[in-house]
Amino acid sequence: MTDAFPLDGRGVVVTGGSRGIGAAVVRLALEQGADVVFGYHSGEERARALAEELSAAHPGRRCTPLRVDVADAADAGRFAATALDRLDRFDALVNNAGVTRDTLFARMAPRQWHEVIGTNLDSMYTVTKPLLMPLVKQRSGAVVNIASSSGLHGIPGQTAYSAAKAGVVGFTKALAKEVGSRGVTVNAVAPGLIETDMTAAIPEDKADFLKSLIPGHAFGTPEDVAHLVCFLASERARYITGQAIEIAGGLVV
Ligand code: NDP
Repeated sequence: MTDAFPLDGRGVVVTGGSRGIGAAVVRLALEQGADVVFGYHSGEERARALAEELSAAHPGRRCTPLRVDVADAADAGRFAATALDRLDRFDALVNNAGVTRDTLFARMAPRQWHEVIGTNLDSMYTVTKPLLMPLVKQRSGAVVNIASSSGLHGIPGQTAYSAAKAGVVGFTKALAKEVGSRGVTVNAVAPGLIETDMTAAIPEDKADFLKSLIPGHAFGTPEDVAHLVCFLASERARYITGQAIEIAGGLVV
């Protein structure tokens, strides 16, 4: 491993890798020398275009897109098995897929609650379950779960999302204690407001208000988050585990 390529020759699996933060993680992991399998859900064309672009940019490295609904255990199991099959070695899982269905709790329909919990929290079980044992058996590896400032502080209009992301943090801390003796680290990254399709849906006046809560008055970029994720996925972070690290530009909610 050289300083310039901390993920050299490593195998990385990323869910929700077709857009936004996940796509930035896929891109940076390849730049840092990894082979990557990434999941997408509805955006097949975009996922294939990204994989083609990155495979061409990194000859010798492999970048494989696979469709998966992370809320569905059987689907996630097939995804995990195929991902392991496509990688020569497997070193890091990035649980990144997520959705928001913002609405006040009083107006929240059961479907909105279940979609948010299913994609953001059930996925911690469905995807991590089949991919953890290979890491435990080889006695090295990293799991990086994408939480949110919403899960750390609670944001009105996001009760389901805050609950799911708080659950991600609890899951992270407990699992870190279970597998720490096997050389596997488990950490959560909790982004604040990051410029992706998810935040593009925020109305302009609300976005301006949210920016006023950030000392630098700007949303972060997917690349800001990807650097932290790839660091935690690498050997360099081997002594960091069970943490939820907020990356929010000092956002105060
Ligand atoms: P985007 O909306 O830009 O992308 C979401 C990704 O998740 C896409 O690749 C999408 O695939 C995938 N996805 C959605 N539903 C499913 C599903 N059921 N099964 C599998 N994959 C699915 O999101 P962001 O990049 O903004 O967010 C990434 C993560 O970061 C999420 O966990 C989010 O909660 C978290 N986060 C984001 C913040 C932000 O400000 N953007 C702040 C805090 C946390 P496809 O396009 O193919 O459907």
